[in-house]
Amino acid sequence: MRIDEIIDEIKSRLDIVDVISEYLHLKKTGANFKGLCPFHDEKTPSFTVSPSKQFYYCFGCGESGDVISFLKKIENVSFNEALRILSERAGVKFDPKHFDGKDEESEFRSRLLAVLSSAKEIYAETLRESTRAMNYLLNERSLSMEIIERFSIGYAPDTKDYLLKRLLQRGYDERLIRDAGLTIGFQGGSYDLLRNRIVFPIFNPRGETIGFGGRLMPLPEDSVNELPKYINSPETPLFKKGENLFGYHQAKDAIKKEGFAIITEGYMDVIMCHQHGFSNVVAPLGTALTPRQLRILKKLTERIILLFDGDTAGINATRRAIQIFIEENLRPEILFLPHGEDPDSFIRRYGPDEFKRLFERTENLIDFYLSKTSPSLLTETVKEIISIISKVEDGIIRAEYIRRLSERTGIRESIIFDEILKSSKKTLKKKKIPLGMDESTLLLKNKRLREEELLMAVIIHHPDKTEFILREIEDNDVEDPILKRIFFELREFTKHGRENEITSLLDLLPSEGKKTIATLILDVMIDNEDIDKLIMDCLKGIKLRRLNRRVEEAKKNGDLLTLQELIRERKELLNTSLKMVMK
Ligand SMILES: [Zn+2]
Repeated sequence: MRIDEIIDEIKSRLDIVDVISEYLHLKKTGANFKGLCPFHDEKTPSFTVSPSKQFYYCFGCGESGDVISFLKKIENVSFNEALRILSERAGVKFDPKHFDGKDEESEFRSRLLAVLSSAKEIYAETLRESTRAMNYLLNERSLSMEIIERFSIGYAPDTKDYLLKRLLQRGYDERLIRDAGLTIGFQGGSYDLLRNRIVFPIFNPRGETIGFGGRLMPLPEDSVNELPKYINSPETPLFKKGENLFGYHQAKDAIKKEGFAIITEGYMDVIMCHQHGFSNVVAPLGTALTPRQLRILKKLTERIILLFDGDTAGINATRRAIQIFIEENLRPEILFLPHGEDPDSFIRRYGPDEFKRLFERTENLIDFYLSKTSPSLLTETVKEIISIISKVEDGIIRAEYIRRLSERTGIRESIIFDEILKSSKKTLKKKKIPLGMDESTLLLKNKRLREEELLMAVIIHHPDKTEFILREIEDNDVEDPILKRIFFELREFTKHGRENEITSLLDLLPSEGKKTIATLILDVMIDNEDIDKLIMDCLKGIKLRRLNRRVEEAKKNGDLLTLQELIRERKELLNTSLKMVMK
């Protein structure tokens, strides 16, 4: 197959709505779907997907394209890499080697993916061969075989180059193994990063292995041990700690289904929650929660519960996380388990139903702060809360917090409000004004489209009319410079017989033109039955304007002969029944 055939085949087998839904929550609105844009920060959805055109456009930031450009952008991969991913999904055979123009970066990434995937297999095999490690997981930690498989848990034995040797045997070179973060260099040699550890593969949202976390196997009581209990792979081009979440790949469906996500601290907590049937649980990758990680979850749900340890470290981590929630316009819900319990022990002691009930009794940030303070620190805490509330952008949520703070502390709402005003003056930042759904859309809603715009809409929705329309209008008929440019590009485009791929035209246009086209694609519905009448009405209007323009010119030039002819033409046009012009 040629590359364009492959592209067509992929596009015909995949629905853009399905693919995009893997990354964000789309809601059906009319003929289209809408969601919060993954490419810019926004509170009201302006990211629009058209199933009929297999095309997306964001009215906020102008991102647009088809399923391939979406994947390319969201996964931050090359075109070939995006094709590879989608071809797999679509079940289309695709070998990037067949194409010219070697894409070194994507080749490097796929080599990294390959070696990481092999490492995952080796670790998993090794676990099954180790009675000690199996015994630890099944008996001491009570993991089920099913969950071991679901998370592809493995084992790294206590040998300095076990993985390295096995990977070399499989034909990977030493440099690549190190680039993948599997070994570390020391005194001229390479050594396995993970040794004597239970290994947790870390997946990207597509389920590809991008790194590993390792938990130290328990050592005999009397041995001295200064090794950290958990370590993670170093960052690589594939593995960015702040941009991925542990368990996300396994949790994303459940998060969408349950309508909320739970963030916990440890890998084992995630795994045990999943084992007990709570599959909407994820964890950061051994570092503090990042805005990027919250944004990944926010695409799936707005309701996110923080389930951290109730110890000092957990409380501090919660405080830091709250700040990020606020910056991301999210309302944090906070949950602590009784002292000394982790999700696993809690569920075993009280049962899954009781665990479930906790999600209905989460604390909001006010209650969290006030419950973790003491009378002597109350003033300080209230000040801290006020500084947080002042950053809350949503007025309704802010009012809710103010009311709650007032209820809990007895401070009058008006006083809290004054303090917030003072505080927000200090932190007031210049806010970005999102372009959003503006005039051009309103215009469409009110059906006050210009004739040229309507004709362009007809072309988009009925490409078979393109040739006729282009023949009937002249470049000078189009007054608006943006539309003029669009018509120009379209003319060029159709010369190559590509009128059916109007969305590809977008790449040729400046952002304003893009927006016009996208609006016409997404927001205009054209009734099939009236289409010819619509075309003729528009053409008539345009031709009248053209004649009027010429009439004015002729008058100015005192060209009576031409004037006479033009006036006759105009009269004729006004009298012509539409069908006549249609020929
Ligand atoms: Zn956007």
